[in-house]
Amino acid sequence: MKNSTYLRDLLREMEIPYTEEKLDQIYDFYEMVIEMNKVMNLTSITDHDDFMKKHIADSLAPIMFHVIHEGDKILDLGTGGGFPGIPLKIFFPGSEFLLVDSVNKKLSFIRTVIDTLGLRDISVLHGRAEDLAHDSGYREQYDLVVSRAVANLSVLSEYALGFVKSGGQFISYKGSSGVDELKEAEVAIDQMGGCVDILYEYALPDGDSRTLIIIQKEKPTPKKYPRKAGVPSKSPLR
Ligand code: SAH
Repeated sequence: MKNSTYLRDLLREMEIPYTEEKLDQIYDFYEMVIEMNKVMNLTSITDHDDFMKKHIADSLAPIMFHVIHEGDKILDLGTGGGFPGIPLKIFFPGSEFLLVDSVNKKLSFIRTVIDTLGLRDISVLHGRAEDLAHDSGYREQYDLVVSRAVANLSVLSEYALGFVKSGGQFISYKGSSGVDELKEAEVAIDQMGGCVDILYEYALPDGDSRTLIIIQKEKPTPKKYPRKAGVPSKSPLR
């Protein structure tokens, strides 16, 4: 039996229901990240409790605000080592997930995680958001896009909102800079057809402050967005 007391306490504190199977999957994922991290830089957070808090609890935080629904078709943009996509998939097994990243070797790792954990209805896609968001197979196809630690909110809105269906949502995971980033990103969000729905501020159990910015897709994204790969980060929409 794995010693998962710490994780159980975290989930209980966040009022997130769990099963033994989910805890086992989170542990298998944790062990795989730690092992792979020896040869590939996936995260600087390797201490057990820190990992559970700063990666797992953080990835699952939207559950506290009931902003993710089982059955949603979800895209994780810039998933890296699988955050928040893998923990969310474990907690929403009935949702279809696509985990996107521009670095293929990280996706190879995630494919191994998917196989080892026996996850279904989840796949990975290699490419840059600026290109993929123009592909009709992905453009405006998702109920929900989530993204953590990828770019500032102006740039990220240009990356993400093209994937979201009208009426769907984009959840941006941010630290304490969320409120300030939002002020700077208003033009970009509007240009992309989005509108800020709500911003949740909360603290992780160690007191680290976090922000979840929920953006609603109100109208279709104009065809010219996102601009060519590299342009959004070089000259963010203002
Ligand atoms: N979401 C993960 C990883 C953050 S690191 C976490 O929270 O830990 C940022 C990741 O975004 C990297 O893996 C990088 O390859 C990817 N990324 C950055 N710009 C991207 C783009 N334009 N399109 C797709 N992926 C991108």
